Amino acid sequence: MRDTSVIVVGAGPAGLLLAGELRLGGADVIVLERLAEPVTESRASVLHARTMELFDQRGLLDELGTLPNLPMGHFGGLPLDLTADTRYPGQWKLLQTRTEALLERWATGLGARVRRGFEVTGLTEKSDCVEISGVEVSGTVVLRADYVVGCDGEQSTVRRLAGFDFPGEDAGRELIRADITGIEIPNRKFERHPRGLANAYRYPDGTTRLMMHEFGARPQGTEPTRQQLVDTWHRITGEDISGGAVVWLNAFDDTRRQVAQYRKGRVMLAGDAAHRQLPTGGQAINLALQDAMNLGWKLAAQVRGDVDLLDTYHEERHPVGAHVLANIAAQTQLLFSDQNIEPVRTVMAELMAMEPVRNHLAEMISGLGIRYGDVGSRIPPIPALRTGKGVLLGGDRAVAAPWADRVEFADELGFGSALIRPDGYIAWVGGTCGTLEAALRQWFGADRRTT
Ligand SMILES: Cc1cc2nc3c(=O)[nH]c(=O)nc-3n(C[C@H](O)[C@H](O)[C@H](O)COP(=O)(O)OP(=O)(O)OC[C@H]3O[C@@H](n4cnc5c(N)ncnc54)[C@H](O)[C@@H]3O)c2cc1C
Repeated sequence: MRDTSVIVVGAGPAGLLLAGELRLGGADVIVLERLAEPVTESRASVLHARTMELFDQRGLLDELGTLPNLPMGHFGGLPLDLTADTRYPGQWKLLQTRTEALLERWATGLGARVRRGFEVTGLTEKSDCVEISGVEVSGTVVLRADYVVGCDGEQSTVRRLAGFDFPGEDAGRELIRADITGIEIPNRKFERHPRGLANAYRYPDGTTRLMMHEFGARPQGTEPTRQQLVDTWHRITGEDISGGAVVWLNAFDDTRRQVAQYRKGRVMLAGDAAHRQLPTGGQAINLALQDAMNLGWKLAAQVRGDVDLLDTYHEERHPVGAHVLANIAAQTQLLFSDQNIEPVRTVMAELMAMEPVRNHLAEMISGLGIRYGDVGSRIPPIPALRTGKGVLLGGDRAVAAPWADRVEFADELGFGSALIRPDGYIAWVGGTCGTLEAALRQWFGADRRTT
């Protein structure tokens, strides 16, 4: 007997968005989260343009009000104008804690069950279901589902238990970040010194967020001490922060790995569980959320028995992830290498002053340049996408009528008739690639008249 159709492990951004998408598609879902309460520490703080569009297309921005906007981003620490053809150009400030709270309210409002204080420790794939075992206050619990998605972050237990290959490169550099009170130092962004790189930002409450890398510093395998923080900052900047009180301190590194397959039978991975990277340019959370948006409607269609699109999740998201990891690796070289990289930075800055280069990088960082297949570019958010169904823009509604339970109808947007997937990407454009009926069958399954 099944407890649910889908178990999502992890109530981070990817798991919560996925849970909401599954509910929109009519699939039962339980989210298992080991933490009893959401974390309060600050992590990601910006959403990029494509994520804003995806949130808008589900009506998720309405309750957030106007978010602070930063028109400029960076590539490897070099200023990058993120102007683009979108309603949401630039970066939008939204603390990850708020993003998660928003998504949890939305997903549970749609009927997702979030079970906190449940740590997944075992996974067995059977021919007709997946068994998940875990520990919660009541003791050991076993749950069964048709599918399991590991959204359990960079140390993913699901990835390990299901035996996913996770190739890539081990860390070569260690970075330190800390929140500290009681110091008065100037703000600075990607300030390069002969011995390292320094960031400082003072929040309105007086806490200063520091991030630093001393050129050549390799991962130690242990968390830094307060004294190491003070000494490292002094060696890089010459400033004395020994009088400050450390609120939060940790080390992170440039490990770069990506699973070879995003799907193994009935088990899938999304977000940091599928790829590990530095959060350079604020891309990590956006990549995680967009994995979830790509998978949600496909897995819901699978659960409903409409159509099997699950392999396209890997086919579409693995290349996107690989591309982002490559640009992060390039930025890591530009940011965290010593003075020998300066000539490359100079040439890169000259190239970025050219509009085609700027545009290419802006599309890459913002996620606006993502395409799936030959016709699969994005469309801007439209109200018809709020239900989580596909949308036929213009086109012959009589042909699509037998799919009306899975496809909404709306007017053309100015590029002819088109069939839009629930995640806001074009599946078919009239007159270019086969018939509308074939596209409806491919992406939404059989028509209801013949089943
Ligand atoms: C200090 C810090 C700063 C960061 N800064 C940025 C930034 O500036 N920009 C950016 O884009 N990204 C940043 N990131 C990365 C960003 O937070 C992640 O990319 C994002 O959270 C990924 O979302 P996710 O849902 O895939 O995974 P996570 O947010 O990691 O969520 C995974 C969830 O799974 C749960 N879990 C794990 N194991 C189990 C288990 N066995 N059983 C049940 N539950 C489990 C965890 O408790 C967690 O809630 C930062 C991360 C950290 C730690």
